[in-house]
Amino acid sequence: MKFIIATNNPKKLVELERILSPLGINAVTAKQEGLSLDEIEENGTTFRENSFIKASAACQKSGLPAIADDSGICVDALDGAPGIYSARFGGENATDTDKNYLILQKLEGCKNRNAHYTCAITCVFPNDDMIQVEEYCFGEIALKPEGTGGFGYDPIFLFDGESFGNYSSEAKDKVSHRGKALRAFKKELKKYMEEKHANE
Ligand code: IMP
Repeated sequence: MKFIIATNNPKKLVELERILSPLGINAVTAKQEGLSLDEIEENGTTFRENSFIKASAACQKSGLPAIADDSGICVDALDGAPGIYSARFGGENATDTDKNYLILQKLEGCKNRNAHYTCAITCVFPNDDMIQVEEYCFGEIALKPEGTGGFGYDPIFLFDGESFGNYSSEAKDKVSHRGKALRAFKKELKKYMEEKHANE
C-alpha cells in the first residue's frame, strides 16, 4: 500500500520509511508523485491542527493516504512560545544559532527555564478516516548552548540535565517527542490496518 509523506524534509522521510516498511507500506513524497505542496498554508493554532492541514491537503491532491507531522519547542516562561512558530522564530532568515540566542536572551535572569518539545503526527485516509498522535519531551532551557548533535534548538535543550546537543541520534530517539510520536503512530497504524483487514 502506498502512502504520501507530506514533507520536503529528507530526514523525516527516512525516519518514516524505517517505521512504515515493516507494515508493508511504501512511503513516497509528494514530489515523487509529481505533486507540489508548497502552497499549503499552515494556519492552524495547534501542532495537531497544522499536521492535519498538511496531511489532509496531500490526501486530497493525491487520492492516497497521507502522513504529516508538525513539531516545535514551547517555553513555559514565554507563554509557550515559540511553539507552532518554532521554525520561523526570529524571522525567515534567522539561523538555528540566532533562534537559540534569542531564546537565551528572552530568558535572561529568569528562574523558570522549563520547556518541552511537542510532535504531532496525522494520517488522513481518502475515506476520511484519521489517525492522530501527539507526544512530548519535557526538559529545561540551558544557560548557554552546548554540543553539536541534533538540530534546531537541541544545543539549548537540557533533558535530564544534559544538552540534547550531546546526545547521539539513537539516545535522543529513545526519549524525544518525535521518537515517542513515531512509535505511538506505528502502534495505532498497525491496529488500524489489522482491523481493516479483519473487516474485508
Ligand atoms: P517542523 O516540524 O518541520 O515544522 O519544524 C519545527 C521546528 O521546530 C524546527 O525547525 C526546529 O526549529 C524545531 N524542532 C522540532 N523538533 C526539534 C528537535 O527535535 N530538535 C530541535 N529542534 C526541533
